[in-house]
Amino acid sequence: MKIILLGTGDATGTPKIGCRCKTCMNAREEGWQRTRFSILVQNRGKNILIDTSPDMRYQLLSAGVGKVDAVIWTHGHYDHFAGFGDFYRVQKGVKVYSVSEVLHYINGFLYFMSYKPVEKEAYKPFQLFGLNITLFDVNHPPLERSLGLSIQNEHTKVVITGDTNTAIPEKSLEIMKNADLMIVDAIAPEGFNLKKHMNAGEAYRLAKSLNARKVVFSHLSHFYPPHYEAAAVYPVGKDMQEFIFDEDNRD
Ligand SMILES: [Zn+2]
Ligand SMILES: [Zn+2]
Ligand SMILES: [Zn+2]
Repeated sequence: MKIILLGTGDATGTPKIGCRCKTCMNAREEGWQRTRFSILVQNRGKNILIDTSPDMRYQLLSAGVGKVDAVIWTHGHYDHFAGFGDFYRVQKGVKVYSVSEVLHYINGFLYFMSYKPVEKEAYKPFQLFGLNITLFDVNHPPLERSLGLSIQNEHTKVVITGDTNTAIPEKSLEIMKNADLMIVDAIAPEGFNLKKHMNAGEAYRLAKSLNARKVVFSHLSHFYPPHYEAAAVYPVGKDMQEFIFDEDNRD
């Protein structure tokens, strides 16, 4: 299994349009950026997208992805689904997995596109290209449903929190335990008091309390210092960062 962080940014991305803060200026000067949130999961030669970022076309071209085999949507926020339109003209009938509320909501925007919604229930594992996937509820007000995922094969467990604050249901916390890699929503550095997301301290404490072997922060805003400064303090992810897992070579 291989995981690629296609986009590690929040809804605005970094640099943010029109922003002249230190981080956004540094991003422009040094030529780095955080595109909007998507993760690519590769297994048995298949490509699964977790969310379809508004930066999708650029991300798929950057990762050299020629065909998308499945999509899983975590929730109905623009920065997590809008890029689906970037490949519906390239591929017909892509299967998209989520819970019924999320599929129904997003279909209100994407109703004219050709794709195949596949309803799944939280806490009921399903198989996709040799991976055991479990969706679970997290907490991202005011949305009623926002999902995290556990993705497992016989050797490896990867957990993605999705967009969430710390008030995650107990039933979900059970599923999130003992991940080899945990990709955590940590939208802002410590000290920010957030209702919809976790700050860096909350995200790190959550991952450690769940015994994650490796932690990486994603969904990052321009409130962090420039990437290389932030990376000295926090386990911040980087666009196109890869994690490769197999029997003999675990990251
Ligand atoms: Zn988001
Ligand atoms: Zn900025
Ligand atoms: Zn969101």
